[in-house]
Amino acid sequence: MVQVSRPVAGCTAVSGSVTMDGVSSEPLRLMAVHAHPDDESSKGAATMARYVDEGVDVLVVTCTGGERGSILNPALKDRPEIEENIAEIRKAEMDRARAILGVSQTWLGFVDSGLPEGDPPPPLPEGCFALVPLEEATEALVREIRRFRPHVITTYDENGGYPHPDHIRTHEISVAAFDAAADPDRFPDAGEPWQALKLYYDIGFSIAKMDALHDAMLAQGLESPFEEWKTRRAEWVKDMRAPTITTQVPVGDWFERRDQALLAHATQVDPNGWFFAMPLAIQREVWPTEDFELARSLVDSTIPEDDLFAGVRDRVAK
Ligand SMILES: [Zn+2]
Repeated sequence: MVQVSRPVAGCTAVSGSVTMDGVSSEPLRLMAVHAHPDDESSKGAATMARYVDEGVDVLVVTCTGGERGSILNPALKDRPEIEENIAEIRKAEMDRARAILGVSQTWLGFVDSGLPEGDPPPPLPEGCFALVPLEEATEALVREIRRFRPHVITTYDENGGYPHPDHIRTHEISVAAFDAAADPDRFPDAGEPWQALKLYYDIGFSIAKMDALHDAMLAQGLESPFEEWKTRRAEWVKDMRAPTITTQVPVGDWFERRDQALLAHATQVDPNGWFFAMPLAIQREVWPTEDFELARSLVDSTIPEDDLFAGVRDRVAK
């Protein structure tokens, strides 16, 4: 459900310098909260690269080290030297992706829960992110919000965008921290209160986007990667709320940067896989945006939006 609150007077002036007309004179800041290294490059990466190019400070917060991620690049499978050093390798991959996107990045330091597979699924491993008490994990994110002071935060929806326990947990702590960071009575040892103005959920592949790309691939005589995916997704989402696209950021010119960042996570992607099989020209023609759902807002903006900072820019002069 989109919950849009009325603007709160003076909430951009919590800290930072304030001009005569009451508008704070800070750079715009965007925080993207993600579960694992590589998620930032597959969800909203082109949007981040665009905002970086436009002078926005962008911080990726990565909740876990991705220690339990499977090696998905066939060329790098069954190599003990990779499997034994996966945590260090994923850190190095994240460094490359961060540099390509031009963002800052920080780790919350939690341990990947892994994707439980089997029927019934096995219990989650002891000490993993999804089992850390919600308050404790929320405090870690509140500390980052109060330090970085984002105007806009992006995260996943309540279904995680993908049914991984770390993605669901990432949603839970992001929603909790959005409010808690602004509340001086919550986590008083975690920094000065900060009220972010908007919270968005990433929408990666909506049904509409998959259908559009699928049809365009077939029309060009190309094999569509979505035939099986559409069926699988239909199973996944049958009991889930369909997200509402409120915001489409035009980012077609940043698709190469997105792809390069994703390829930097070499253990986690198949460079010959479906994602890279879609010609960028088709993507630009059919779906040249990255899409988001506005979940919380303390400013006025008109839906549909084409900018995560709609309603924020006029309150935070650059
Ligand atoms: Zn992930």
